Amino acid sequence: MAFSLADILAARRVIRGVADATPFVPSPFMTRTAGQDFLLKLENMQPVGAFKLRGAVNAVMTLPATVGGVTCCSTGNHGRGVAYAAGQRGMKAVICMSRLVPQAKVDGIRALGADVRIVGTSQDEAMHESQRLCDAEGLVEISPFDDPKVIAGQGTIGVEMLEARPDLTTLLVPLSGGGLAAGVAVAAKAINPAIRVIGITMDRGAAMHASLIAGKPVEVPEVASLADSLGGGIGLENRLSFPLCRDHLDATVLVTEEEIRHAMQVLYFEDRIVAEGASVVGLAAILSGKVRVEGPTGTIVTGRNLDMGLFTKIMAGEDVTIGDLTVKGRCYGA
Ligand SMILES: *Cc1c(COP(=O)(O)O)cnc(C)c1O
Repeated sequence: MAFSLADILAARRVIRGVADATPFVPSPFMTRTAGQDFLLKLENMQPVGAFKLRGAVNAVMTLPATVGGVTCCSTGNHGRGVAYAAGQRGMKAVICMSRLVPQAKVDGIRALGADVRIVGTSQDEAMHESQRLCDAEGLVEISPFDDPKVIAGQGTIGVEMLEARPDLTTLLVPLSGGGLAAGVAVAAKAINPAIRVIGITMDRGAAMHASLIAGKPVEVPEVASLADSLGGGIGLENRLSFPLCRDHLDATVLVTEEEIRHAMQVLYFEDRIVAEGASVVGLAAILSGKVRVEGPTGTIVTGRNLDMGLFTKIMAGEDVTIGDLTVKGRCYGA
């Protein structure tokens, strides 16, 4: 399937004024650490608290008026974007999520008036439910990452970053199903073929990373992580986000739970930004020394939708437990 910058520029016109133009700001602390200009694209400032609004708005707004409603599976943020976009169009939305999705995310989606279905203990089970609903209730399914409209919407972030800073040499992009990384990489490389785009994810259940190594989509067990938004598979039937990540990402890098915890603290104590674990993996890659950069670098702070009880514990240096995972606490600067 042909997918190009033209799709992303078309998405840009659709989402204008609704889900675009987030701040892109330097982080003085990260700039000192990286030894290069280091900038944060603040998608945590989106009205639903995450970048997924871009893809969701583009997908929902371009549906024909005859469509009765939409459905999706989600680790939380895509569902929130779809619920918001459907609400704007006066369309019904049914959001399917697994029991691994944090309550704060579920509550946020319900508050937008969507119909929420909690099914199973993995993103794959939620996906099967949303596929069943398409047939049973005549809804249109919007994939969180394997849909050209969604990828095009996420790609607008890359266009905005390079317009603001044409001198960027590296982009560090949080990676799960790969819709974000695919869109951003296609946009960035169309504008500057020499730019490096690196996908960053957690070392627990990294489905795209395992699939890129295998050369085809593979399944990995889904496990609890501080970066819960990065959980879930890429679908064995993946059509678009896998080949685009394979062809356009320069590398993938894995970070640990401790590295994610530390990066959340850095972003909060140094830049005063509240962000979920999935959002800080680009910072974690630099802070851990796993990625070195040779010029101006940008990362995407992808979202802020986390449980505030969990957040305040992490900031206080306490141990936190998510499912079967315990992450040791440590006071920042200690
Ligand atoms: C969905 C999500 C990601 C990963 O995006 P993909 O397109 O699935 O790779 C990263 N961060 C947050 C906060 C997300 O919600």
